[in-house]
Amino acid sequence: MAAKRDYYEVLGVPKNASADEIKRAYKKLAIKYHPDKNPGDKEAEDKFKEAAEAYDVLSDEKKKAQYDRFGHEGLSAGGFGGFSSGGFSFEDIFSHFGDIFSDIGGFGGGFGGGGRPRSRGPAPGEDLQIGIALTLKEIAEGTVKKVRIKRFKACPDCNGKGGSGTKICESCNGKGQVRRRMQSIFGEMVNVATCPDCGGSGESISNKCKICSGQKRVKTEDTIEVKIPAGVASGNYLKLRGEGNASSQGGAAGSLIVHIEEKNDEFFVRDGQNLFCKVFVPVYRLALGGEQRVPTLYGEVKVKISAGLQPGTQLRVRGQGLPGYNSDYKGDLFVEVQAHIPENLSGKEKSLYEELRSLGQDRDEKRERGLLDRIKEFFS
Ligand SMILES: [Zn+2]
Ligand SMILES: [Zn+2]
Repeated sequence: MAAKRDYYEVLGVPKNASADEIKRAYKKLAIKYHPDKNPGDKEAEDKFKEAAEAYDVLSDEKKKAQYDRFGHEGLSAGGFGGFSSGGFSFEDIFSHFGDIFSDIGGFGGGFGGGGRPRSRGPAPGEDLQIGIALTLKEIAEGTVKKVRIKRFKACPDCNGKGGSGTKICESCNGKGQVRRRMQSIFGEMVNVATCPDCGGSGESISNKCKICSGQKRVKTEDTIEVKIPAGVASGNYLKLRGEGNASSQGGAAGSLIVHIEEKNDEFFVRDGQNLFCKVFVPVYRLALGGEQRVPTLYGEVKVKISAGLQPGTQLRVRGQGLPGYNSDYKGDLFVEVQAHIPENLSGKEKSLYEELRSLGQDRDEKRERGLLDRIKEFFS
């Protein structure tokens, strides 16, 4: 076995990283190296497992303290067992996903949910992960997205049974797993692996289905509609139970995990449920006062510009922000006022500006002198 990398180095966080930073760093790597995103890529799979192992230790207060004091050795000495490369299964890794994603956004209901239930029955199908990018408008109103996914479905030919003449697998006595003792640097370890003869189903089929070769499922590609409620944010995810892969062992289908990403908007910047934008108001309107039309996600509103309003002022338009998930309350829109300076003046405009200049000269010079004097005083 190659020398183990430092767990902090694996996650790319400093030694004094907070629990939150560790979680975020792990989540990033887990998504990047997820086997569904990197099918057949052994290096990605190793990175995925390495990150999961590092997170398993650094997210556990006891194990982390042990590791901080004694390094990798400390984990075996402290009775935590350590890991062999085969001992940390994907099942273990997926058990992280529940707690790592479910507390983002704090959604209840159809969102989040725990990790994979560890049931005694046949193993469920794998979860699948996809990302959906949404505009702010789609987030404001909620939307239905069509997505094309490749997944396993129960074989229609054998109804997901894999064939006929099913008997208990003799290699594993129907357990679906075999135990192997192996030597590691931590001493002897027991490695539990999927039975190679039945693939974990615990049964052997004498007349295998010709369509799925006894695998009980077939690869399909179809389009499904994903309904996304209003008020979601980047980092949220939806868990669609039963929309993942069909099980190869007669268990329940996995879930389809839909990760929400927010597309950048060229006009609005989001902060929680509030939105921020800038509008450029003609100079005469700032000086004289008036009304300015401002676009919103829901249409447009008119905001009042009071006479003498200064550039940089922020105006608040209530209820033109984003709704919350499961709540109709909308955030606010904050409009930063900027001055629009005309670039191509007509002859008439130019002469009027010149007239304004001569009218305001005394006042403006006084103001300028006042500022210069204050600065001079400050330095003397
Ligand atoms: Zn078996
Ligand atoms: Zn079949």
